Amino acid sequence: ASLRRLAHYDYWSDRFRRSILLDSGADLLIYGMGELAMVEVADAMNSGLNIRDITFIPGTVYKSRTTDQVWDGITLPDFASMQKDKTQYARSFSIQEQNTDSISGRPLIESYGEHRYVIQNPPMRPVTTQELDDIYELPYENAWHPVYDAEGGIPAFSEIRFSLTSNRGCYGGCSFCALNFHQGRIVQARSHESLIREAKLMIRRPDFKGYIHDVGGPTANFRHPACRKQIEKGVCPNRQCLFPKVCGNIHADHTDYVALLRELRQLPGVKKVFVRSGIRYDYVMADPDDTFLEELCQYHISGQLRVAPEHVSDHVLQLMGKPGSDVYKAFCRRFEKINRKTGKQQFLVPYLISSHPGSTLEDAIALAETIRDMGFQPDQVQDFYPTPSTASTVMYYTGIDPRNMQPVRSVTSPKEKAMQRALLQYRRPENYNLVRQALIQAGREDLIGYGEKCLIRPGNAAHRGGSRKRNGNTRNEKANKKTERSRSVGRTKKH
Ligand code: SF4
Repeated sequence: ASLRRLAHYDYWSDRFRRSILLDSGADLLIYGMGELAMVEVADAMNSGLNIRDITFIPGTVYKSRTTDQVWDGITLPDFASMQKDKTQYARSFSIQEQNTDSISGRPLIESYGEHRYVIQNPPMRPVTTQELDDIYELPYENAWHPVYDAEGGIPAFSEIRFSLTSNRGCYGGCSFCALNFHQGRIVQARSHESLIREAKLMIRRPDFKGYIHDVGGPTANFRHPACRKQIEKGVCPNRQCLFPKVCGNIHADHTDYVALLRELRQLPGVKKVFVRSGIRYDYVMADPDDTFLEELCQYHISGQLRVAPEHVSDHVLQLMGKPGSDVYKAFCRRFEKINRKTGKQQFLVPYLISSHPGSTLEDAIALAETIRDMGFQPDQVQDFYPTPSTASTVMYYTGIDPRNMQPVRSVTSPKEKAMQRALLQYRRPENYNLVRQALIQAGREDLIGYGEKCLIRPGNAAHRGGSRKRNGNTRNEKANKKTERSRSVGRTKKH
């Protein structure tokens, strides 16, 4: 509901839909993480207010026949005009994105015809450290609901059962991620004491084997707001903290996270503390101190570190809101240097996305060539999936980048999506025909042959997948398989 609070494109039905508040018939919608808003709604109802009169609580969306009660609101393009003209939806999204902050955000009014409005109040304020501690220290069951017993439980549960949530919020601002619409850009962190208390409870559980699987959140290495200004005046509405370059005001410092990880790994009963939530490598690069990366490599990963460059073509990265490929390359060099220093043989496993808006067949081929040169074969790839309330979804649906209103070629044909995806796993026999078609269509027959650089061999039989393996592939493939399960869990958790 949080991400469908205003009109949105729905990929499942391939339709532009109204706010879910109207379609569900609910009276009030709470968006974001909701704990504070939920208490305020409960208090208001306890005081005798009818739920239909609760129009003033931050972090809620309500229906109304008038806008008289709205102070300093912004009128978004109305639903009918967005249905007719996709540009209007891109414009609406851009306004929404600039109003996701609790300090600077203004009420947003979306009209559904005469005297029919859906009104979004500004987001609820971020929780304090004490409030976040209180939320996470409620007496949870730490179990799946018994309704899942018949299906043998929830597979991902084993991964999160011994994981600690240390923060929420993210100022990463990737275009394909809805985190800023949901948790906001201001990072909120739990105290060390609270996390240690939770770890101690974990240790006492009979099935705890000594391994804490994760200490993270949307971005593991964010433990404080991006800068001082964010807390005092709100986040910059028209600027991103890490894109296109790291903002000069950012406070890039891992001291607190390093101290937390040290405390956790010294707890009696703990053999190893893993970090499996994604780390922002551009933020790591902004911190000149090597301590975090050294200790991460030394103590908190097991053979490989998963990071998310997502693509290699700079114009696709630009649309994704990710740093240029030079930043990833620089991070690879720093990672290697640190592993040489600590004497560890460890590898980077990159997350990659195929068919993101703006990505052409040529870009997907460039990605396949990078994979070939890295000696890495992803077991799983992520094909772009248009989830509600992301800039990338707006690009997919409207063909416009809502951040600058420039046209974007979005990949919507199932055939091309399949080709782009197949290129990322070009060695798989079942992908042979698609890869061959893609290479021919893009005029890259030079990559079909027996040479070292060729992706596939000539012919059209499905069994002819892949060229000769290069040194290092087998080693990396083994490493990939080992953690594939946890990798998919990490993605689920992030979103
Ligand atoms: S000043 Fe920079 S770091 Fe601070 S909120 Fe704005 S963009 Fe982010």
